Amino acid sequence: MNRHLLVLGGGLSGLASAFHLSRRFPESLITLVEKQSRLGGWISSHRVHINLLGLQESVITTPTTSAAAKNRYLQVHETQGLITLPNSLLSFFSPPMRSWMLPVILKESTKRWNRPFGITDESVDSFMSRRFGPFFARMFGSALVHGIYAADSRQLSVRAAFPSLWAMEDRGWGSVVRGALIPSAALSRGDYNVGDLPEIMKGVSVYSFSDGMETLHASALTILCDTSVSSLGVTTLNNDLEVRMTNGQVIHPSRVVSALPLPVLSDVLSPELNLPHLTANPTSSVTVLNLVFPPTQPRLHPAGFGYLIPRPPTGYSEDNPGILGTVFDSCALSAQDQNPAQFTKMTVMLGGPNPITPSHTDIDAVLKQLSVVPRPVYVQMQHHVDCIPTPTPGHLERMEEMKTKLAKGIWAGRLDVIGAGVGGVSVGDCVESAKRVGEGWTL
Ligand SMILES: Cc1cc2nc3c(=O)[nH]c(=O)nc-3n(C[C@H](O)[C@H](O)[C@H](O)COP(=O)(O)OP(=O)(O)OC[C@H]3O[C@@H](n4cnc5c(N)ncnc54)[C@H](O)[C@@H]3O)c2cc1C
Repeated sequence: MNRHLLVLGGGLSGLASAFHLSRRFPESLITLVEKQSRLGGWISSHRVHINLLGLQESVITTPTTSAAAKNRYLQVHETQGLITLPNSLLSFFSPPMRSWMLPVILKESTKRWNRPFGITDESVDSFMSRRFGPFFARMFGSALVHGIYAADSRQLSVRAAFPSLWAMEDRGWGSVVRGALIPSAALSRGDYNVGDLPEIMKGVSVYSFSDGMETLHASALTILCDTSVSSLGVTTLNNDLEVRMTNGQVIHPSRVVSALPLPVLSDVLSPELNLPHLTANPTSSVTVLNLVFPPTQPRLHPAGFGYLIPRPPTGYSEDNPGILGTVFDSCALSAQDQNPAQFTKMTVMLGGPNPITPSHTDIDAVLKQLSVVPRPVYVQMQHHVDCIPTPTPGHLERMEEMKTKLAKGIWAGRLDVIGAGVGGVSVGDCVESAKRVGEGWTL
């Protein structure tokens, strides 16, 4: 029997699934096909010659437990400056959280069940408004969604993105707060229900994957870079899977794992095999602006990880530069905090639901909103088009339906679909869903 497993897409999901398949089925031939000349998909690093900036001596690391890494902020339209988000029980009692969060959380814990009868999903904004009120939903919910999905919380499915919130509401007889206080039974996860970072990933470092790559090289794995999949179908003659590449190459694998972006998979599927589930969700585009500022005294931002900006009270508009949030990269390097005469590095994320034209990004307007005075000594801007999928309400049901469809009929379980568009966009989600590919296969 042919035991040729084909993985489409060499992003994090494709690489991780090829790695786990090579461990699970060491006798199989595994081929990974990637369109670009490099692997990693959206995971990419750009090495900047920082010696030009005199920073080469300062390459150091910081534990994630440090205050600088733990402090997170909001920049809200209603007030000046940054607002510290609570990171301890005590911090809920300091203003403005004392009035913004505490009464809302206490009230929610006494609020009765108010999930409309029969609904199986809703947007993050609708869920949070229902339980905590519209102010809380916009202020905290929309900012959180900006930080993870670069999306509008009014579009994002709460069950796909934050399944634990939905489960807590169930567990707490309608109250998220009550549910949070009740220990959950063993986490039960549907095959596609992996929106939150799984327990299993706790304590697992990204470095373990580089070890995985070494193992990959030792297995029967062929990586075809610069090779673009142009069609995926089933032959009429033998009912074999057939994958064609733009370079003319044709492969007839026994199974295919697609880790392609879902709209790309939809495009390469033969029209008669089209799956409408693949194009049901929109995607966000993000502009990433890396800035390096000269040493200043005092430093340009408080110690912390960075800040998020909620949806403006009047909705998204072209009246602002469209910042979703900013990471204080300098704080990832604690030694720099001890030496104030250092450069300040920030990564600004723009776009998502904000209607911006990336090619017209106004750096001066961004700097004005950042409230930083000096000019940056280094600026790098990258536009990532359609880079983060937004699973809309009903996503989990759609994915389950697609899985059922692929398990029988012409596919007969020979096509698995994974990736950020299926089981969650975070690195942890991608690795976790890739890890489960091949469970239950008999080759
Ligand atoms: C700007 C940005 C910031 C992010 N920040 C974080 C973060 O801080 N923390 C976090 O956890 N996650 C973050 N993410 C999310 C995370 O990086 C992605 O969700 C994840 O990398 C997606 O991996 P993937 O393999 O599923 O998809 P992709 O990376 O999209 O991989 C798909 C692969 O398929 C290839 N491909 C496309 N078409 C074809 C074709 N026809 N033939 C062959 N190959 C093809 C592509 O070239 C690509 O390599 C961020 C994402 C972005 C865009």
